[in-house]
Amino acid sequence: MNPILNKALSLNRLSPEEALFLLKDADWTCVVRTANAVRNARLPGHRVGYTVYQIINYTNVCSIHCEFCSFSKEKGEPGTYLLSLDKIREKAIHARSLGANQIFLQGGVDEDIQLDYYTDVLQMLTHELKMSVRGFSPVEIFHIAKTNGMDVPTLLKTLKAAGLSSVPGAGAEILADRVRAKLSPKKLTSLEWRDTLAECHKAGLPGSVNIVFGSFETPEEIIAHLDLLRALQDETKGIKSFVAWTFQKQTDHFPIRHVSPQEYLKLLALSRLYLDNIPHVEVSVLGMGKEIGELGLSSGADDINSIVIEENVLESRGIKSIGEAEEFIRKAGFTPYRRTLNFD
Ligand code: SF4
Repeated sequence: MNPILNKALSLNRLSPEEALFLLKDADWTCVVRTANAVRNARLPGHRVGYTVYQIINYTNVCSIHCEFCSFSKEKGEPGTYLLSLDKIREKAIHARSLGANQIFLQGGVDEDIQLDYYTDVLQMLTHELKMSVRGFSPVEIFHIAKTNGMDVPTLLKTLKAAGLSSVPGAGAEILADRVRAKLSPKKLTSLEWRDTLAECHKAGLPGSVNIVFGSFETPEEIIAHLDLLRALQDETKGIKSFVAWTFQKQTDHFPIRHVSPQEYLKLLALSRLYLDNIPHVEVSVLGMGKEIGELGLSSGADDINSIVIEENVLESRGIKSIGEAEEFIRKAGFTPYRRTLNFD
């Protein structure tokens, strides 16, 4: 067997050079099989998690203009919106009636939204409706703080007091500044993103991280991305899970390439091997579909990253009910369990 895979199988940490070799040169089936064995060693019991949450995109106004994004609109353009407190309440109550007890709040960067809006929404969702809230990417956090003349730790303290319990590592895409300069020049740099998420973890707001690949990133940049996440987790221990996504076609001016199932599964498996300090790896059934989702559960993943009740950014290919999630997991040969967004 490849000595690098043997090292991973012994639960020893891989170097960036070893991970790069696996990504570029190793047979994908060997990487996948090793990741499955490592997943079983780290998480015995053949359990697979799912969760039920409602995504609420509170505004589509955004000044960041990512090249790949078709969701956002310029301030004043027709079709822009900012959801009122009543509308968000209505959506949350509907989600609750479908079995969700968690809300995932995310939106664009609109410098005109005042802090009171965010705290009112959080208080309503958590204090009045008793739901838990994961929300605001590091990009949103960074800009809400700036707009309101606060530093990030003070903002996080305020949002946490209003009810926020988790922050997703969204807006990462590829944490390599060469790529970020092209796909989203106004977004946070890799270091700004890292530092903002580290502040969230230090404030007691754990969450997830991800990778979005399938454009013009290089294998070296993918490994640098994973390495940044692993180092962040060594420092803060605030990352509960990692999920791999591919870019979905939203605009005509952002180059995306076809990612084969083999390429996706190999990256998912490599993430399980390299991110030895992140407990859970999620396969994106929503983004990749059920067939790859099922294969992902034998390629290092232990979670299906669903059920999402509403998603404006991505057309849903996911699982739509608790019964469907449990049946899907059982048919794949695992025991389902329902988790919270923070894997509590
Ligand atoms: S991806 Fe997010 S930050 Fe980028 S333009 Fe769309 S809404 Fe704005």
